[in-house]
Amino acid sequence: MGNGRRSIVSPPPNLQRLTGIAATAVHPYPPRMKAPRFCPQCAQPLSPRDDGGKPRAACPDKACGFVHYGNPLPVMAGIVEMDDHILLVRNVGWPETWFGLVSGFLEAGETPQEGMLRELHEELGLQGTITRLVGVYPFTERNELIIAFHVRATGEVVVGAELAGYKRVHKAKLRPWPMGTGLAVSDWLASQPS
Ligand SMILES: [Zn+2]
Repeated sequence: MGNGRRSIVSPPPNLQRLTGIAATAVHPYPPRMKAPRFCPQCAQPLSPRDDGGKPRAACPDKACGFVHYGNPLPVMAGIVEMDDHILLVRNVGWPETWFGLVSGFLEAGETPQEGMLRELHEELGLQGTITRLVGVYPFTERNELIIAFHVRATGEVVVGAELAGYKRVHKAKLRPWPMGTGLAVSDWLASQPS
């Protein structure tokens, strides 16, 4: 993904064995729920402050007024279909059995749809058409909000620098995983004609 950050969907090993398809994206950064220690506006140490009944890390400088809210980041995830197969990707550094959806963070100035297609092109070199929004899912473990699309892709796969590889899984063999983007996979599979 473009800005080097990535959402995670990391089922524990026993679930990977159960589902057959392990989907994971290891976040190279610590969880974002941790508040910063210093004010990003004026560099003073932040201190706890009650804000509407919730403790927030806030700047002691009244004139600065910074409060860390730690709002979840939007992440796009794509159920990318090509020739009746779903394309799953594996990040550099992941165990060889781990694959997940094409995903990435929304960048400033783009719509979720634009961001989804950008990530698809960056990760797999493919062109895409978004067929529909599958759903919006909380991923509280990562303090992220997943915006999941179904995408039809065309072109020749060129694996991007942030990926160790990809694989094609026939739609009939795709199995959801129990958290994160797996919820979108589950909903999408349930919507398919049997
Ligand atoms: Zn400050």
